[in-house]
Amino acid sequence: MPVWICATCANQYPEAPSPPGICVICADERQWVPASGQRWTTAEELAAAGHRGDVREVEPGLLGIGVDPPVAIGQRALLVRTDEGNLLWDPPGYLDEVAVAAVRDAGGLRAVAASHPHFYGTIADWSEAFDAEVLVCAPDLGWLTRPPRRPPVTWSGSRAVLPGVTLVQCGGHFAGSAVVHWAGGAGGAGALLSGDTIFVTPGEDRVTFVRSAPNRLPLPERAVRGVVEAVRPYAFDRVYGGWWQPVLRRDAKAVVERSAERYIQWLRGEVPEDR
Ligand SMILES: [Zn+2]
Ligand SMILES: [Zn+2]
Repeated sequence: MPVWICATCANQYPEAPSPPGICVICADERQWVPASGQRWTTAEELAAAGHRGDVREVEPGLLGIGVDPPVAIGQRALLVRTDEGNLLWDPPGYLDEVAVAAVRDAGGLRAVAASHPHFYGTIADWSEAFDAEVLVCAPDLGWLTRPPRRPPVTWSGSRAVLPGVTLVQCGGHFAGSAVVHWAGGAGGAGALLSGDTIFVTPGEDRVTFVRSAPNRLPLPERAVRGVVEAVRPYAFDRVYGGWWQPVLRRDAKAVVERSAERYIQWLRGEVPEDR
């Protein structure tokens, strides 16, 4: 019996003779179901279609693991490497021997986590491949559609995972939306790995905050302020989003604050130059 994979979001559902009727994650207002109807796939079908692990060094100490061609939402994972083990963040929707070998060569895996349920994807596969701990932000546990064999560990607020590597709950997009603060990132200035908790925009010079990206839904002011306040205590100069690009490469702390203030001006309709 196959593990069923939603073709639109790449989240997995337990082994069964036939797939579930709907993907609960895509049926939610933050995602979408194709107009032609729910579609399912399997890891075997993705392999046969030619998807392969795509591994690149992003910066020293940070390995990117994506899929070529991309699967579903197309996120690439980030492997944060430390002397005491590694954290895999935002696993993509397909895992193969190329990706597993790259992580093994990089020292294996202590823990795997995701910024939010859209990117849970292969989290159970990764946990089982390395007997890694799965960390799930408590309010989102119900969205873990295929729990790993090793029971997930829930956390909230913040949680130190490895030296200099901290999960920070921000809320907003999902109640449990989170970022990784990596103190050693950006040459020691600090980096956030944000998925779409803090959404980097195409010009790499601002960020935004969304209830739903595909459905163009904004967040209320209190949620935007909640995200900014959650990351304010941390030093960071760079923000990596959920994909290879865009990346907010420098001056990120000021850009996040400035972007949030502008967003809130628009929410309130307080933009003097509005034409
Ligand atoms: Zn789905
Ligand atoms: Zn999302």
